Amino acid sequence: MPSFEEARGIILAHVKPLGEETVPLLEALGRIISRDIAAPWDMPQYDNSAMDGFAVRSEDCAPIPATLEVTGFLPAGGSDLPHVAPGCAVRIMTGAPIPSGCSAVVPIEETEFRGDRVVITQRVLLRQHIRVKGADVAAGARIVAAGTRIRPSEIGMLAAMGQAMVPVQRKARVAILSTGDELVELGETPALGRVINSNALSLAAAVREVGGEPVLIGIARDDSQSLKEKLREGFACDALITSAGVSAGDRDLVREVMAELGATEHFWKIGMKPGGPTSFSTRDGKPVFSLPGNPVSTMVTFELLVKPALLRMMGQRNVIRPFVKGILAEDAHKKPGKVHFIRVTVKQRHGRHVAYCAGDQHTGILSTMTRCDALAALPLDATFLPAGTEVDLALLREVDLVTEYAA
Ligand code: AMP
Ligand code: MG
Repeated sequence: MPSFEEARGIILAHVKPLGEETVPLLEALGRIISRDIAAPWDMPQYDNSAMDGFAVRSEDCAPIPATLEVTGFLPAGGSDLPHVAPGCAVRIMTGAPIPSGCSAVVPIEETEFRGDRVVITQRVLLRQHIRVKGADVAAGARIVAAGTRIRPSEIGMLAAMGQAMVPVQRKARVAILSTGDELVELGETPALGRVINSNALSLAAAVREVGGEPVLIGIARDDSQSLKEKLREGFACDALITSAGVSAGDRDLVREVMAELGATEHFWKIGMKPGGPTSFSTRDGKPVFSLPGNPVSTMVTFELLVKPALLRMMGQRNVIRPFVKGILAEDAHKKPGKVHFIRVTVKQRHGRHVAYCAGDQHTGILSTMTRCDALAALPLDATFLPAGTEVDLALLREVDLVTEYAA
């Protein structure tokens, strides 16, 4: 039976980036750019004014005060460039191209402006307040490196460089299949013995949150005919996630039917809890994650095992989010032999993450999942961890949002 890390390693060894597609710029937000993008031109594209003021010849401005004749006006967007003759100044607005003859811009605040004359009241340096062509980015320079996740700042840079369409790594289309005779779809009222297929929704949300495209293919019943049909449907996507039907019950048929359909199983069962009965297979090179059905197990195994794989498929290079260190606020007991990921709330005390048990840790208890801020890893062989023990935490919320300073 592989350990949690071994299982994750096996999964990652069987997935690779899906390839690229070209999308309109705004659609690239949050995606991984698939190629280096080079600047097609200098930025700025022409020398221009950094201030509202006057375009002057710097040599005309000493000694101060110096009086110049105002012979023209250049607004931002102006392309009709009046020449700056000796002894003259041209009113200029921020962003306007630098006209011929001009060797400095004097900000309006450093002048006294009197209609057709301007008095320069402060010392003027050669080239002051001129944004020089190519000073920000030179033509040909790399503006965004392949592998970068696109943020609003990259969108802005790419837009400034005229990139209306950009190459990004493809999104994974991920089929989500729930299995079980007891399941009803959201919207139906569950009769006694029935439960709503909530795993499909939590998994779809999780897929979407990592940037994938969930494809809900519904419920397969606990019989091989129904499973075969639905699994085949799932194989059409880039990856398939099933939930339930992988434990040792006599109606747990998912693995058996997968094998009949030609899938290769790489492991079944992992030394972790929750998530013990998880199975991972590939079929025609596509990954199939068969997760246990208890809603908490489904979410935890997605977070720790499926998510890194989907990120890799969508072109992210570093896919394993490192644990952060925290300390247990209370004693914890466990059986040896598996790493236990317990649901904890986290508070920040004197610069350290302190983890409190979020409640009942049974995998059927969903409320501890909504309440928790992190999963705390209690090591494989540990049996008793006294309060104060340092543990690894997988944060499930932004750490800022769980921060609370002790008075
Ligand atoms: P199983 O793995 O089939 O033994 O299911 C374990 C538990 O998870 C049972 O209590 C199921 O009712 C529950 N369960 C299975 N699938 C789902 C699902 N799609 N949504 C919510 N609960 C589920
Ligand atoms: Mg079942």
